[in-house]
Amino acid sequence: GDVTLSEVEEFVWEIAREDGMNTPARVLASESLLEAIADDDTLRQIRNVTHLPGVVEHALCMPDGHQGYGFPVGGVAAIDAENGCISPGGVGFDINCGVRMVKTNLEYSDITGREEELVDALFDAVPTGLGGGGVVTGDAETMTGALERGLDWAHEAGYATRDDLKHCEDGGYRPDAEPEKVSQKATDRGRNQLGSLGSGNHFLEVQRVTDIYRDDVAATYGLEADQLVVLIHCGSRGLGHQVCSDYLRRIEEEHADFLDDLPDDNLAAAPAGSELAEDYYGAMCAAINFAWVNRQLITHQVRETFADVFDTPWPELGMELLYDVSHNIAKRETHEVEGEEREVFVHRKGATRAFPAGHPEVPTAYRDAGQPVIIPGSMGAGSYVLRGGAESMDRTFGSTAHGAGRLMSRTQAKREYRGEEIRSDLREHEHVYVKAESGATIAEEAPGVYKDVDEVVRVSEALGIGDTVARTFPVLNIKG
Ligand code: 5GP
Ligand code: MN
Ligand code: MN
Repeated sequence: GDVTLSEVEEFVWEIAREDGMNTPARVLASESLLEAIADDDTLRQIRNVTHLPGVVEHALCMPDGHQGYGFPVGGVAAIDAENGCISPGGVGFDINCGVRMVKTNLEYSDITGREEELVDALFDAVPTGLGGGGVVTGDAETMTGALERGLDWAHEAGYATRDDLKHCEDGGYRPDAEPEKVSQKATDRGRNQLGSLGSGNHFLEVQRVTDIYRDDVAATYGLEADQLVVLIHCGSRGLGHQVCSDYLRRIEEEHADFLDDLPDDNLAAAPAGSELAEDYYGAMCAAINFAWVNRQLITHQVRETFADVFDTPWPELGMELLYDVSHNIAKRETHEVEGEEREVFVHRKGATRAFPAGHPEVPTAYRDAGQPVIIPGSMGAGSYVLRGGAESMDRTFGSTAHGAGRLMSRTQAKREYRGEEIRSDLREHEHVYVKAESGATIAEEAPGVYKDVDEVVRVSEALGIGDTVARTFPVLNIKG
Protein backbone atom coordinates (compact mmCIF):
# COMPACT_ATOMS: atom_id res chain seq x y z
CA GLY A 1 0.00 0.00 0.00
CA ASP A 2 0.99 3.65 0.32
CA VAL A 3 2.15 3.39 3.94
CA THR A 4 5.89 3.66 4.54
CA LEU A 5 7.48 1.94 7.52
CA SER A 6 10.91 2.26 9.04
CA GLU A 7 12.44 -0.19 11.46
CA VAL A 8 13.13 1.51 14.81
CA GLU A 9 14.56 -1.62 16.42
CA GLU A 10 13.98 -5.33 16.01
CA PHE A 11 10.20 -6.01 15.77
CA VAL A 12 9.29 -2.30 16.04
CA TRP A 13 8.18 -0.53 12.84
CA GLU A 14 7.24 3.12 12.72
CA ILE A 15 4.97 5.10 10.46
CA ALA A 16 6.42 8.62 10.61
CA ARG A 17 4.27 11.56 11.58
CA GLU A 18 2.85 13.45 8.62
CA ASP A 19 0.20 16.12 8.11
CA GLY A 20 -2.87 15.49 10.22
CA MET A 21 -1.22 12.86 12.39
CA ASN A 22 -0.87 13.82 16.07
CA THR A 23 1.79 11.19 16.70
CA PRO A 24 3.66 8.50 14.79
CA ALA A 25 2.18 5.00 14.67
CA ARG A 26 3.98 1.79 15.53
CA VAL A 27 3.57 -1.80 14.46
CA LEU A 28 5.07 -4.55 16.60
CA ALA A 29 5.82 -7.50 14.35
CA SER A 30 8.38 -9.86 12.87
CA GLU A 31 8.92 -9.68 9.11
CA SER A 32 6.63 -12.61 8.39
CA LEU A 33 3.82 -11.19 10.54
CA LEU A 34 4.30 -7.77 8.98
CA GLU A 35 3.80 -9.29 5.56
CA ALA A 36 0.35 -10.54 6.65
CA ILE A 37 -0.44 -7.26 8.39
CA ALA A 38 0.48 -5.22 5.29
CA ASP A 39 -1.82 -7.39 3.18
CA ASP A 40 -5.06 -5.70 4.24
CA ASP A 41 -6.02 -2.21 5.44
CA THR A 42 -4.39 -2.49 8.89
CA LEU A 43 -1.46 -0.11 8.31
CA ARG A 44 -3.65 2.64 6.92
CA GLN A 45 -6.09 2.14 9.79
CA ILE A 46 -3.46 2.45 12.53
CA ARG A 47 -2.10 5.54 10.83
CA ASN A 48 -5.62 7.01 10.74
CA VAL A 49 -6.00 6.43 14.48
CA THR A 50 -3.22 8.97 15.12
CA HIS A 51 -5.49 11.65 13.63
CA LEU A 52 -7.80 11.40 16.64
CA PRO A 53 -7.36 14.41 18.92
CA GLY A 54 -5.46 13.66 22.12
CA VAL A 55 -3.64 10.50 21.01
CA VAL A 56 -0.41 10.34 23.00
CA GLU A 57 3.04 8.88 22.20
CA HIS A 58 1.97 6.63 19.33
CA ALA A 59 -0.91 4.47 18.23
CA LEU A 60 0.13 0.84 18.26
CA CYS A 61 -0.69 -2.29 16.29
CA MET A 62 0.00 -5.57 18.09
CA PRO A 63 1.66 -8.51 16.26
CA ASP A 64 -1.71 -10.22 15.67
CA GLY A 65 -3.22 -7.10 14.08
CA HIS A 66 -5.67 -7.18 11.19
CA GLN A 67 -8.25 -4.93 9.59
CA GLY A 68 -11.27 -3.94 11.68
CA TYR A 69 -13.98 -1.27 11.92
CA GLY A 70 -12.15 2.07 12.10
CA PHE A 71 -9.39 0.85 14.38
CA PRO A 72 -7.61 -2.34 13.37
CA VAL A 73 -8.17 -5.38 15.57
CA GLY A 74 -4.95 -5.45 17.60
CA GLY A 75 -5.03 -1.66 17.95
CA VAL A 76 -3.95 0.10 21.14
CA ALA A 77 -4.28 3.86 21.62
CA ALA A 78 -4.05 6.01 24.73
CA ILE A 79 -6.07 9.17 24.29
CA ASP A 80 -6.04 12.12 26.67
CA ALA A 81 -9.09 11.87 28.96
CA GLU A 82 -9.41 15.64 29.35
CA ASN A 83 -8.65 17.08 25.92
CA GLY A 84 -8.97 14.03 23.70
CA CYS A 85 -11.86 11.76 22.89
CA ILE A 86 -13.29 8.28 23.24
CA SER A 87 -14.05 6.21 20.15
CA PRO A 88 -16.53 3.29 20.01
CA GLY A 89 -14.63 1.93 16.99
CA GLY A 90 -11.56 1.77 19.22
CA VAL A 91 -13.42 -0.55 21.56
CA GLY A 92 -15.27 -2.63 19.00
CA PHE A 93 -18.78 -3.99 18.62
CA ASP A 94 -18.32 -6.94 20.96
CA ILE A 95 -17.64 -4.85 24.06
CA ASN A 96 -15.53 -6.80 26.56
CA CYS A 97 -15.18 -9.79 24.36
CA GLY A 98 -12.61 -11.69 26.37
CA VAL A 99 -11.20 -14.99 27.39
CA ARG A 100 -10.81 -16.78 30.71
CA MET A 101 -9.02 -19.92 31.77
CA VAL A 102 -10.49 -22.28 34.34
CA LYS A 103 -8.05 -24.77 35.81
CA THR A 104 -8.71 -28.37 36.85
CA ASN A 105 -6.66 -30.92 38.77
CA LEU A 106 -7.43 -33.51 36.10
CA GLU A 107 -4.88 -34.86 33.65
CA TYR A 108 -5.22 -35.63 29.97
CA SER A 109 -5.41 -39.37 30.75
CA ASP A 110 -8.52 -38.71 32.86
CA ILE A 111 -10.57 -37.96 29.77
CA THR A 112 -9.04 -40.16 27.11
CA GLY A 113 -11.87 -42.41 25.96
CA ARG A 114 -14.47 -40.06 27.43
CA GLU A 115 -14.00 -37.13 25.03
CA GLU A 116 -17.31 -37.68 23.25
CA GLU A 117 -19.23 -37.88 26.52
CA LEU A 118 -17.72 -34.67 27.87
CA VAL A 119 -18.02 -32.64 24.68
CA ASP A 120 -21.69 -33.65 24.33
CA ALA A 121 -22.43 -32.81 27.96
CA LEU A 122 -20.76 -29.41 27.63
CA PHE A 123 -22.58 -28.71 24.38
CA ASP A 124 -25.90 -29.47 26.10
CA ALA A 125 -25.12 -27.33 29.14
CA VAL A 126 -23.81 -24.20 27.42
CA PRO A 127 -26.18 -22.31 25.13
CA THR A 128 -24.60 -21.66 21.72
CA GLY A 129 -25.56 -20.19 18.39
CA LEU A 130 -27.84 -17.30 17.65
CA GLY A 131 -31.14 -18.33 19.24
CA GLY A 132 -30.05 -20.58 22.08
CA GLY A 133 -31.28 -18.59 25.09
CA GLY A 134 -29.17 -18.15 28.21
CA VAL A 135 -28.41 -19.72 31.59
CA VAL A 136 -30.60 -17.30 33.55
CA THR A 137 -33.59 -15.25 32.47
CA GLY A 138 -32.84 -11.57 32.19
CA ASP A 139 -35.80 -10.08 34.01
CA ALA A 140 -35.58 -6.39 34.89
CA GLU A 141 -33.91 -6.93 38.26
CA THR A 142 -31.37 -9.42 36.91
CA MET A 143 -30.45 -7.14 34.01
CA THR A 144 -29.95 -4.14 36.27
CA GLY A 145 -27.87 -6.22 38.67
CA ALA A 146 -25.66 -7.63 35.92
CA LEU A 147 -25.19 -4.32 34.12
CA GLU A 148 -24.60 -2.29 37.25
CA ARG A 149 -22.44 -4.67 39.27
CA GLY A 150 -21.01 -7.38 37.03
CA LEU A 151 -19.42 -10.23 38.97
CA ASP A 152 -20.49 -8.66 42.23
CA TRP A 153 -24.03 -9.49 41.14
CA ALA A 154 -22.97 -12.98 40.01
CA HIS A 155 -21.42 -13.63 43.41
CA GLU A 156 -24.50 -12.51 45.25
CA ALA A 157 -26.67 -14.68 43.00
CA GLY A 158 -24.54 -17.75 43.76
CA TYR A 159 -22.72 -18.08 40.43
CA ALA A 160 -19.26 -16.87 41.46
CA THR A 161 -16.81 -17.34 44.30
CA ARG A 162 -14.86 -14.52 45.92
CA ASP A 163 -11.74 -15.88 44.22
CA ASP A 164 -13.43 -15.65 40.82
CA LEU A 165 -13.78 -11.92 41.38
CA LYS A 166 -10.17 -11.54 42.45
CA HIS A 167 -8.98 -13.36 39.35
CA CYS A 168 -10.74 -11.16 36.85
CA GLU A 169 -9.54 -7.91 35.32
CA ASP A 170 -10.94 -5.02 37.41
CA GLY A 171 -12.37 -7.56 39.85
CA GLY A 172 -15.12 -8.24 37.30
CA TYR A 173 -16.86 -5.00 38.22
CA ARG A 174 -16.70 -1.57 36.61
CA PRO A 175 -18.31 0.82 39.09
CA ASP A 176 -18.57 3.50 36.36
CA ALA A 177 -21.35 1.48 34.72
CA GLU A 178 -24.60 3.34 34.05
CA PRO A 179 -27.31 0.85 33.03
CA GLU A 180 -29.71 3.73 32.36
CA LYS A 181 -27.45 4.79 29.48
CA VAL A 182 -27.99 1.41 27.81
CA SER A 183 -30.97 1.65 25.43
CA GLN A 184 -34.09 -0.44 25.89
CA LYS A 185 -33.33 -2.11 22.58
CA ALA A 186 -29.83 -3.11 23.75
CA THR A 187 -31.16 -4.41 27.08
CA ASP A 188 -33.85 -6.40 25.31
CA ARG A 189 -31.28 -7.97 23.00
CA GLY A 190 -29.26 -9.15 26.00
CA ARG A 191 -32.14 -10.43 28.08
CA ASN A 192 -32.15 -13.99 26.78
CA GLN A 193 -28.40 -14.15 26.19
CA LEU A 194 -27.12 -14.11 29.78
CA GLY A 195 -24.86 -17.12 29.77
CA SER A 196 -24.48 -17.86 26.06
CA LEU A 197 -21.49 -18.37 23.85
CA GLY A 198 -22.85 -16.82 20.68
CA SER A 199 -21.59 -17.83 17.28
CA GLY A 200 -18.56 -17.68 15.02
CA ASN A 201 -15.24 -16.89 16.63
CA HIS A 202 -16.45 -17.60 20.18
CA PHE A 203 -15.59 -20.93 21.70
CA LEU A 204 -15.35 -23.17 24.70
CA GLU A 205 -12.29 -25.37 24.70
CA VAL A 206 -10.91 -28.06 26.97
CA GLN A 207 -7.14 -28.07 26.57
CA ARG A 208 -4.15 -29.90 27.94
CA VAL A 209 -1.00 -28.14 29.07
CA THR A 210 1.81 -29.23 26.75
CA ASP A 211 4.76 -27.03 27.73
CA ILE A 212 5.94 -25.03 30.70
CA TYR A 213 8.47 -22.25 30.00
CA ARG A 214 8.80 -20.51 33.37
CA ASP A 215 8.60 -22.95 36.25
CA ASP A 216 8.31 -20.36 39.01
CA VAL A 217 5.51 -18.37 37.35
CA ALA A 218 3.69 -21.55 36.30
CA ALA A 219 3.81 -22.72 39.93
CA THR A 220 2.37 -19.39 41.08
CA TYR A 221 -0.39 -19.72 38.49
CA GLY A 222 -1.01 -23.37 39.42
CA LEU A 223 -0.18 -24.79 35.98
CA GLU A 224 1.72 -27.97 35.19
CA ALA A 225 2.35 -30.23 32.21
CA ASP A 226 -0.51 -32.55 31.20
CA GLN A 227 -3.08 -30.70 33.28
CA LEU A 228 -6.52 -30.10 31.76
CA VAL A 229 -7.75 -26.51 31.60
CA VAL A 230 -10.84 -24.88 30.08
CA LEU A 231 -10.84 -21.76 27.93
CA ILE A 232 -14.01 -19.68 27.52
CA HIS A 233 -14.09 -16.97 24.83
CA CYS A 234 -17.14 -14.77 24.39
CA GLY A 235 -18.38 -11.26 24.96
CA SER A 236 -21.44 -9.11 25.49
CA ARG A 237 -23.56 -10.61 22.67
CA GLY A 238 -26.31 -8.51 21.12
CA LEU A 239 -26.31 -6.10 24.04
CA GLY A 240 -22.78 -4.84 23.50
CA HIS A 241 -23.27 -4.72 19.74
CA GLN A 242 -26.35 -2.57 20.17
CA VAL A 243 -24.59 -0.22 22.62
CA CYS A 244 -21.83 0.31 20.06
CA SER A 245 -24.31 0.92 17.21
CA ASP A 246 -26.45 3.26 19.32
CA TYR A 247 -23.54 5.48 20.28
CA LEU A 248 -21.93 5.48 16.84
CA ARG A 249 -25.20 6.79 15.46
CA ARG A 250 -25.55 9.44 18.17
CA ILE A 251 -21.96 10.56 17.67
CA GLU A 252 -22.50 10.88 13.93
CA GLU A 253 -25.62 12.97 14.61
CA GLU A 254 -24.32 15.16 17.41
CA HIS A 255 -20.63 15.53 16.56
CA ALA A 256 -20.62 15.48 12.78
CA ASP A 257 -18.18 18.41 12.69
CA PHE A 258 -15.64 16.33 14.58
CA LEU A 259 -15.69 13.78 11.79
CA ASP A 260 -14.89 16.38 9.13
CA ASP A 261 -11.27 16.42 10.27
CA LEU A 262 -10.82 12.66 10.30
CA PRO A 263 -9.70 10.49 7.37
CA ASP A 264 -12.26 7.75 8.08
CA ASP A 265 -15.91 8.07 9.16
CA ASN A 266 -15.59 4.85 11.13
CA LEU A 267 -13.30 6.65 13.57
CA ALA A 268 -16.30 8.53 15.00
CA ALA A 269 -15.45 9.67 18.53
CA ALA A 270 -17.05 11.71 21.28
CA PRO A 271 -14.95 14.62 22.57
CA ALA A 272 -13.67 14.04 26.12
CA GLY A 273 -15.82 15.84 28.65
CA SER A 274 -18.88 16.00 26.38
CA GLU A 275 -22.13 14.57 27.69
CA LEU A 276 -22.05 11.97 24.95
CA ALA A 277 -18.56 10.80 25.95
CA GLU A 278 -19.76 10.36 29.54
CA ASP A 279 -22.90 8.53 28.42
CA TYR A 280 -20.97 6.20 26.14
CA TYR A 281 -18.44 5.47 28.88
CA GLY A 282 -21.24 4.61 31.34
CA ALA A 283 -23.04 2.41 28.80
CA MET A 284 -19.81 0.73 27.69
CA CYS A 285 -18.90 -0.07 31.31
CA ALA A 286 -22.37 -1.60 31.78
CA ALA A 287 -21.80 -3.77 28.69
CA ILE A 288 -18.41 -4.72 30.13
CA ASN A 289 -20.12 -5.90 33.33
CA PHE A 290 -22.66 -7.83 31.26
CA ALA A 291 -19.89 -9.68 29.40
CA TRP A 292 -18.19 -10.69 32.66
CA VAL A 293 -21.48 -12.07 33.96
CA ASN A 294 -21.89 -13.90 30.67
CA ARG A 295 -18.51 -15.63 30.97
CA GLN A 296 -19.20 -16.35 34.65
CA LEU A 297 -22.53 -18.05 33.96
CA ILE A 298 -20.85 -20.21 31.34
CA THR A 299 -18.15 -21.03 33.89
CA HIS A 300 -20.87 -22.12 36.28
CA GLN A 301 -22.32 -24.48 33.66
CA VAL A 302 -18.87 -25.87 32.87
CA ARG A 303 -18.17 -26.56 36.55
CA GLU A 304 -21.52 -28.30 37.04
CA THR A 305 -20.99 -30.37 33.90
CA PHE A 306 -17.54 -31.54 35.00
CA ALA A 307 -19.00 -32.36 38.42
CA ASP A 308 -21.66 -34.51 36.74
CA VAL A 309 -19.37 -36.27 34.31
CA PHE A 310 -16.63 -36.96 36.87
CA ASP A 311 -19.09 -37.52 39.70
CA THR A 312 -17.14 -35.16 41.95
CA PRO A 313 -18.06 -31.70 43.27
CA TRP A 314 -16.25 -29.08 41.17
CA PRO A 315 -14.17 -27.59 44.03
CA GLU A 316 -12.62 -31.04 44.45
CA LEU A 317 -11.76 -30.96 40.75
CA GLY A 318 -9.78 -27.78 41.40
CA MET A 319 -11.85 -25.74 38.95
CA GLU A 320 -10.56 -22.32 39.94
CA LEU A 321 -10.43 -19.35 37.63
CA LEU A 322 -6.82 -18.61 36.65
CA TYR A 323 -7.73 -15.26 35.11
CA ASP A 324 -10.17 -13.42 32.84
CA VAL A 325 -8.82 -10.92 30.30
CA SER A 326 -10.75 -8.41 28.22
CA HIS A 327 -10.23 -7.93 24.47
CA ASN A 328 -12.38 -4.96 23.61
CA ILE A 329 -12.46 -2.14 26.11
CA ALA A 330 -11.53 1.44 26.82
CA LYS A 331 -10.48 2.36 30.30
CA ARG A 332 -9.55 5.51 32.14
CA GLU A 333 -6.00 4.73 33.32
CA THR A 334 -3.05 6.77 34.51
CA HIS A 335 0.12 6.36 32.45
CA GLU A 336 3.44 8.08 32.32
CA VAL A 337 3.61 10.07 29.11
CA GLU A 338 6.78 12.03 28.35
CA GLY A 339 7.75 11.95 32.01
CA GLU A 340 4.36 13.11 33.27
CA GLU A 341 1.41 11.23 34.78
CA ARG A 342 -1.53 11.57 32.42
CA GLU A 343 -5.16 10.41 32.61
CA VAL A 344 -5.89 8.62 29.36
CA PHE A 345 -8.59 6.45 27.84
CA VAL A 346 -6.60 3.37 26.91
CA HIS A 347 -8.41 1.81 23.97
CA ARG A 348 -7.56 -1.87 23.63
CA LYS A 349 -9.33 -3.37 20.66
CA GLY A 350 -8.40 -6.99 20.09
CA ALA A 351 -5.57 -6.46 22.54
CA THR A 352 -4.96 -7.69 26.07
CA ARG A 353 -3.94 -5.83 29.18
CA ALA A 354 -0.54 -7.17 30.32
CA PHE A 355 0.46 -5.47 33.56
CA PRO A 356 3.91 -6.41 34.90
CA ALA A 357 4.97 -7.83 38.26
CA GLY A 358 4.54 -5.31 41.04
CA HIS A 359 1.71 -3.34 39.43
CA PRO A 360 -0.93 -2.60 42.10
CA GLU A 361 -3.74 -3.78 39.83
CA VAL A 362 -2.28 -7.27 39.52
CA PRO A 363 -4.13 -9.56 41.98
CA THR A 364 -2.18 -10.17 45.20
CA ALA A 365 -1.72 -13.87 44.44
CA TYR A 366 0.06 -12.98 41.19
CA ARG A 367 1.64 -9.65 42.19
CA ASP A 368 5.22 -10.93 42.17
CA ALA A 369 4.77 -12.88 38.94
CA GLY A 370 2.84 -10.42 36.78
CA GLN A 371 -0.70 -10.47 35.39
CA PRO A 372 -1.74 -13.67 33.61
CA VAL A 373 -2.37 -13.09 29.89
CA ILE A 374 -4.22 -15.71 27.84
CA ILE A 375 -3.55 -15.89 24.10
CA PRO A 376 -5.67 -18.39 22.17
CA GLY A 377 -4.30 -19.78 18.90
CA SER A 378 -6.97 -21.78 17.03
CA MET A 379 -8.84 -25.08 17.25
CA GLY A 380 -5.82 -26.75 15.67
CA ALA A 381 -2.91 -24.84 17.20
CA GLY A 382 -1.43 -24.13 20.58
CA SER A 383 -2.64 -21.41 22.92
CA TYR A 384 -0.46 -19.59 25.44
CA VAL A 385 -0.45 -18.32 28.96
CA LEU A 386 1.87 -15.33 29.31
CA ARG A 387 2.62 -12.96 32.13
CA GLY A 388 2.65 -9.22 31.70
CA GLY A 389 6.23 -8.23 30.82
CA ALA A 390 8.53 -5.69 32.43
CA GLU A 391 8.51 -3.48 29.29
CA SER A 392 4.75 -3.35 28.79
CA MET A 393 4.14 -0.07 30.62
CA ASP A 394 6.86 1.71 28.63
CA ARG A 395 6.14 0.21 25.26
CA THR A 396 2.41 -0.49 24.96
CA PHE A 397 0.50 1.17 27.81
CA GLY A 398 0.52 -2.23 29.52
CA SER A 399 -0.78 -4.32 26.61
CA THR A 400 0.05 -7.23 24.33
CA ALA A 401 -1.62 -9.36 21.62
CA HIS A 402 -4.96 -11.16 22.08
CA GLY A 403 -4.64 -14.10 19.71
CA ALA A 404 -3.09 -15.24 16.48
CA GLY A 405 -5.21 -12.79 14.51
CA ARG A 406 -7.08 -13.54 11.30
CA LEU A 407 -5.30 -14.02 7.99
CA MET A 408 -8.40 -14.12 5.82
CA SER A 409 -12.02 -13.00 5.87
CA ARG A 410 -14.90 -15.30 6.73
CA THR A 411 -16.11 -15.21 3.12
CA GLN A 412 -12.72 -16.26 1.85
CA ALA A 413 -12.51 -18.98 4.52
CA LYS A 414 -15.80 -20.51 3.38
CA ARG A 415 -14.47 -20.68 -0.18
CA GLU A 416 -11.22 -22.20 1.02
CA TYR A 417 -12.38 -24.83 3.54
CA ARG A 418 -15.12 -27.37 4.18
CA GLY A 419 -16.23 -27.68 7.81
CA GLU A 420 -16.76 -31.45 7.81
CA GLU A 421 -13.30 -32.03 6.38
CA ILE A 422 -11.64 -29.79 8.95
CA ARG A 423 -13.54 -31.54 11.71
CA SER A 424 -12.54 -35.06 10.69
CA ASP A 425 -8.93 -34.01 9.99
CA LEU A 426 -8.59 -32.51 13.45
CA ARG A 427 -10.12 -35.58 14.99
CA GLU A 428 -7.92 -38.01 13.10
CA HIS A 429 -4.58 -36.22 13.16
CA GLU A 430 -4.69 -34.04 16.28
CA HIS A 431 -7.18 -35.89 18.52
CA VAL A 432 -9.27 -32.74 18.82
CA TYR A 433 -13.02 -33.25 19.17
CA VAL A 434 -14.87 -30.33 17.58
CA LYS A 435 -18.60 -29.80 18.01
CA ALA A 436 -20.31 -26.84 16.38
CA GLU A 437 -23.72 -25.48 15.47
CA SER A 438 -22.82 -25.67 11.79
CA GLY A 439 -20.11 -26.78 9.39
CA ALA A 440 -19.87 -23.23 8.06
CA THR A 441 -18.69 -22.02 11.48
CA ILE A 442 -15.90 -24.58 11.46
CA ALA A 443 -14.81 -23.50 7.97
CA GLU A 444 -14.79 -19.83 9.02
CA GLU A 445 -12.64 -20.72 12.01
CA ALA A 446 -10.37 -23.33 10.42
CA PRO A 447 -6.81 -23.26 11.79
CA GLY A 448 -5.60 -21.94 8.41
CA VAL A 449 -7.57 -18.67 8.71
CA TYR A 450 -5.33 -17.56 11.56
CA LYS A 451 -1.76 -16.29 11.68
CA ASP A 452 1.04 -18.19 13.39
CA VAL A 453 0.41 -17.83 17.12
CA ASP A 454 3.93 -19.04 17.98
CA GLU A 455 5.32 -16.12 16.00
CA VAL A 456 2.97 -13.63 17.70
CA VAL A 457 4.09 -14.82 21.10
CA ARG A 458 7.75 -14.78 20.05
CA VAL A 459 7.44 -11.05 19.29
CA SER A 460 5.65 -10.37 22.57
CA GLU A 461 8.41 -12.15 24.47
CA ALA A 462 11.26 -10.50 22.56
CA LEU A 463 9.85 -7.04 23.24
CA GLY A 464 9.32 -7.87 26.92
CA ILE A 465 5.61 -6.95 26.86
CA GLY A 466 4.36 -10.46 27.63
CA ASP A 467 6.55 -13.46 28.59
CA THR A 468 5.62 -17.08 27.89
CA VAL A 469 4.64 -19.19 30.89
CA ALA A 470 2.86 -22.19 29.38
CA ARG A 471 1.48 -23.57 26.15
CA THR A 472 -1.69 -25.62 25.75
CA PHE A 473 -3.30 -27.66 22.96
CA PRO A 474 -7.01 -28.29 22.33
CA VAL A 475 -8.69 -31.54 23.32
CA LEU A 476 -12.38 -30.61 22.97
CA ASN A 477 -13.69 -27.57 21.12
CA ILE A 478 -17.21 -26.14 21.06
CA LYS A 479 -18.05 -23.43 18.55
CA GLY A 480 -21.24 -21.42 18.65
P1 5GP B 1 -11.15 -12.60 18.54
O1 5GP B 1 -11.28 -12.07 19.91
O2 5GP B 1 -10.43 -11.62 17.65
O3 5GP B 1 -12.42 -13.08 17.93
O4 5GP B 1 -10.27 -13.91 18.65
C1 5GP B 1 -9.14 -14.00 19.41
C2 5GP B 1 -8.25 -15.11 18.95
O5 5GP B 1 -8.79 -16.37 19.31
C3 5GP B 1 -8.07 -15.24 17.46
O6 5GP B 1 -7.15 -14.30 16.97
C4 5GP B 1 -7.59 -16.66 17.31
O7 5GP B 1 -6.17 -16.70 17.37
C5 5GP B 1 -8.15 -17.36 18.53
N1 5GP B 1 -9.13 -18.40 18.21
C6 5GP B 1 -10.18 -18.34 17.38
N2 5GP B 1 -10.88 -19.50 17.38
C7 5GP B 1 -10.25 -20.32 18.27
C8 5GP B 1 -10.49 -21.66 18.75
O8 5GP B 1 -11.44 -22.33 18.37
N3 5GP B 1 -9.63 -22.14 19.68
C9 5GP B 1 -8.56 -21.43 20.15
N4 5GP B 1 -7.77 -21.99 21.06
N5 5GP B 1 -8.31 -20.19 19.70
C10 5GP B 1 -9.14 -19.63 18.78
MN1 MN C 1 -16.13 -11.39 20.39
MN1 MN D 1 -12.41 -11.85 21.50
